[in-house]
Amino acid sequence: MAPQPTTSDSRGRPASVVIVGLGNIGSHLPSQVARTGQVGRLTLVDPDVYEAPNQRCQDVAASDLGKSKVEVQTRRVRRVDPRIEVLALRACIEDVPLGLLRADLILAGLDSRVARMNLNSTAWHLGVPWIDAAVDGGSMLARVNVYLPREGAPCLECAWDAGDYAALEQIFPCPSAAQTPSTNAPASIGAVAAAMMVVEAEKLLAGDDDHLLAGRQVMCDLRHHAYLITAYRFNPNCRFDHELWMIETPANKSPKMTLGQLVESESAGCSMLRVPGHRFSRAVYCLSCGRSQAAPLRLVRRIPSVRLHCPDCGGTMAVRGFDMRETFDFPSASRADRRRTLSSIGFCPGDVLSIEGPGTRHFVQLTADRNERGQVS
Ligand SMILES: [Zn+2]
Ligand SMILES: [Zn+2]
Repeated sequence: MAPQPTTSDSRGRPASVVIVGLGNIGSHLPSQVARTGQVGRLTLVDPDVYEAPNQRCQDVAASDLGKSKVEVQTRRVRRVDPRIEVLALRACIEDVPLGLLRADLILAGLDSRVARMNLNSTAWHLGVPWIDAAVDGGSMLARVNVYLPREGAPCLECAWDAGDYAALEQIFPCPSAAQTPSTNAPASIGAVAAAMMVVEAEKLLAGDDDHLLAGRQVMCDLRHHAYLITAYRFNPNCRFDHELWMIETPANKSPKMTLGQLVESESAGCSMLRVPGHRFSRAVYCLSCGRSQAAPLRLVRRIPSVRLHCPDCGGTMAVRGFDMRETFDFPSASRADRRRTLSSIGFCPGDVLSIEGPGTRHFVQLTADRNERGQVS
């Protein structure tokens, strides 16, 4: 039987929760979150499929093998509570438009330090509380941290020293499964971490601030039956900027507009455009034969794969670091650039843009057409 209809949080409305990563820890999360009765909308993010080796380490059935993780978990959530609206995004977190992550809470079942650092930055800028967890199968450890983005509160990086930054994986975000070593922790330990996360999620959504693990970490040493709490402090020397963005969602700004229309719609002026987490490029380069080729302006992570085949040798093309730009400068834009629609450059509904003018900066979310939601290209 489905849970009783108590789908509301402390603010009297069903909560919106994002779960990133559906592996050792994350595979246990969607069903448990659905059972809290506090959630009306659940967004699931993971690029992978369940494979045979996952069966020992994750909450996976034999019938789930070969299927995308978000698809399997969506079905499970619907079985627990069909009233929950599920948005399944088979994508790397770095490819998801930031607006789709604006929720009441993000739960992270990530297995890389780089991915955690990126999510810390994203969740904080969006002002979304996030719960992180990790396991160490060999030492039988499970830990959970709760981060509340607010002034004077600690973030993930507040506790990092030079050694932590040096240990960052020397890989690009969203590597293939072969590049990221699996935690290989037993499913039981992942389940402990997931259960602790959901307990904290219930407190957070119910507004039980007195008992929430805010700014702290709980570590379960399952081998020695120890339960350790560590409190973290805001670090004034933290490398992360701790900025909280005010994001507007005007109805008139969508990926269908042109760059020129975007500039004209900005009364305060607009000299520079940035898409946090993305870079612009106008050139691609063949990794096999070295051919370099001009290409239309495009967000690097959104270049269609058909444009990344070398016409000379059939090799894979990519964008070199020095062909990437953090910003698009309007004063130097050609007439042809101004006529380009945002979608032709790779912008999606839900993308958050930083629009910068003389001494001003503000954030705008492109409107999400209901028909287009979930299409992360
Ligand atoms: Zn910090
Ligand atoms: Zn080539």
